[in-house]
Amino acid sequence: AAVIVGIDGPSGTGKSSTSKAVAAKLGLRYLDTGAQYRAITWWMLSNGIDVDDAAAVAAAAGKPEIVSGTDPSAPTITVDGADAAGPIRTQEVTSAVSAVSAVPEIRTRLTELQRSIAAAAPHGIVVEGRDIGTTVLPDADLKIFLTASAEARAARRNGELKGKNAADLAATQAALVKRDAADSGRKTSPLAKAADAVEVDTTELTLEQVIECVVTLVEE
Ligand code: C5P
Repeated sequence: AAVIVGIDGPSGTGKSSTSKAVAAKLGLRYLDTGAQYRAITWWMLSNGIDVDDAAAVAAAAGKPEIVSGTDPSAPTITVDGADAAGPIRTQEVTSAVSAVSAVPEIRTRLTELQRSIAAAAPHGIVVEGRDIGTTVLPDADLKIFLTASAEARAARRNGELKGKNAADLAATQAALVKRDAADSGRKTSPLAKAADAVEVDTTELTLEQVIECVVTLVEE
């Protein structure tokens, strides 16, 4: 039978690196749901929609075509056929994504898309996000909730951003904490740990240790 793994947690806990590596090791597909929320946000910004106008965002929720490639060694994301991998990582999109993600029509649409992608995965899939265990795939075989201290998360994120130095660390941390607060505070499927999720604190762990821990849990 297909294996369904959901990996949730706030930003900077190593969700993406862990999820991709676990999927590759176990021969599963991989879905980055954050990339989908970013992609729809990028489309809203590109089409002049005010992301703080929830009614305008809701009205446009069904318009862009979002396609996710689920090979863990080369995941892809396109919006209306255009490669969105670069543009979805800009500061502009990162700052706007929580507002767009809070709109129920956006969540309904992407949740349906995520469920259909998971159901089509031949051997199973690792799906990463904020509400996978609670909302998208409540019947997942394994649910992981990754955490880490705000300091560790900011340091990792800073390391990923080229040209950033120690002086930017405080700003990175403030932005992360703000986005997590928005994601945790929204009414519809907020960032949350499912009751039956296994919590893994990655603060003192290397990426290899986190991957090993999750692989072991899948194989149990
Ligand atoms: O994982 P990533 O940081 O790329 O996610 C970007 C944003 O997408 C999150 O801050 C959150 O607002 C939204 N998101 C969500 N539900 C998910 C995945 C991401 O609301 N399952």
